[in-house]
Amino acid sequence: MKRLVVLGGGESGVGAAILGKVKGMEVFLSDMGKITQRYKDALNEAGIEWEEGVHTESRILGADEVVKSPGIPPTAPIMQRIASKNIPVISEIEFAGRYTDAKMVCITGSNGKTTTTLLTYHILKNAGINVGLAGNVGKSLAWQVAYDQHDVYVIELSSFQLENMYDFKANVAVMLNITPDHLDRYDYEMQNYVNAKFRIIRNQTAQDAFIFWQDDPVIQAQMRQLKIEASLFPFAEMEEEGSKAYIDAEHDLVINTPGTSIKMPRADLSLNGLHNLYNSMAAGLSACLLDIDKEDIRRALSDFEGVEHRLEYVATVNGVRYINDSKATNVNSCWYALESMPKNTILILGGKDKGNDYTEIEPLVLKKVKAIVCMGKDNEKLMKFFEGKVSELRDTHSLDDAVKACAEIAVDGDTVLLSPCCASFDLFKSYEDRGEQFKAAVKAMLNK
Ligand code: ADP
Repeated sequence: MKRLVVLGGGESGVGAAILGKVKGMEVFLSDMGKITQRYKDALNEAGIEWEEGVHTESRILGADEVVKSPGIPPTAPIMQRIASKNIPVISEIEFAGRYTDAKMVCITGSNGKTTTTLLTYHILKNAGINVGLAGNVGKSLAWQVAYDQHDVYVIELSSFQLENMYDFKANVAVMLNITPDHLDRYDYEMQNYVNAKFRIIRNQTAQDAFIFWQDDPVIQAQMRQLKIEASLFPFAEMEEEGSKAYIDAEHDLVINTPGTSIKMPRADLSLNGLHNLYNSMAAGLSACLLDIDKEDIRRALSDFEGVEHRLEYVATVNGVRYINDSKATNVNSCWYALESMPKNTILILGGKDKGNDYTEIEPLVLKKVKAIVCMGKDNEKLMKFFEGKVSELRDTHSLDDAVKACAEIAVDGDTVLLSPCCASFDLFKSYEDRGEQFKAAVKAMLNK
């Protein structure tokens, strides 16, 4: 009997363990941290042995194969022990992919993955396709393959997930953009991060599609180095050589694939901002390649409601608009948020810095930001960088103080934007927690 060890007891690990069990393997799951109760219940119900707070090496090193959760870095001591024993390590997506013939639409990029994944899913679902949502969002792919099979999966793939993928193939691969992120995990070498992202096109043939943003210099440079087998579907804001999606002179969104051509007014797209235009193009191209009816695509692109914590309008208090973009955990996503803001924005920045370079947003800050409120345990780097670049710079260390500072500075007509460029873990449980707390603090002012 094959011995499968799963490391990490979150959504992907538990899904992989269950799938292993369903496929008749001897499964053991180990998590160095705490496993939440509902996952413990799921493991117990499936009769899977597990442990938490420890990695019992003797059991782990007896594995024929290891499924590793994406959050565990390859440098973790247990991973090095596993590597020294030459035990193969794969990701949950790789594992699940072995047991399904469903079509795979896989979406990666530094920013926009969740939005594009949910938008693509929305189009397919509303067109009546038997579609599953997986990867960083929704149920794990492995769990769905075990218990709830679909004909198509739309999968959000981070670079961490892509790292341990080998034989898996995306029928449609989407690469939205590549900007520095998570460099702490890649020895501060951008190329390592780019290589991980490009694993999304592994094993693709001419029958498969690679959709990508053709103006991204990092994507362009990498593509010049590689021989790509897949059929190419580049998109750009304005038509360029080879563009399969773009905005034409009449301000219409045009999408062209061999099977389908669509033209619809850009103004009909439900998501605003340049970044969301790209996301809509990528989702629209994916849907066309799956032969979804044009009318279904047009309708779904115009009635998609957006995603929480991504440029989410919260409320207007004393004439000041408050926007929650808590998911902006790197500098580039904040750039796109600022790009779509009016002048007189008060920007809340800060949190756990992942090796950020703030020069990227400096021109937009100079143009649109009247004040910066730093909100983090340690704001020194931010305070130093923005000193003298905005008329007001505040140093705060809690969400309440940050919102209070914004309310003091803002006047009628201003916008307060939480788009922190940083991870949330210094003061919050997660970016969702940060966004929820921000929304609650803003709404509390409404009731005063
Ligand atoms: P991801 O899942 O890749 O983190 P999200 O869809 O959750 O991406 O969006 C994260 C942040 O990035 C949001 O704050 C949003 O404003 C910004 N963003 C969304 N799409 C793009 C894009 N195509 N390019 C750059 N930034 C984007």
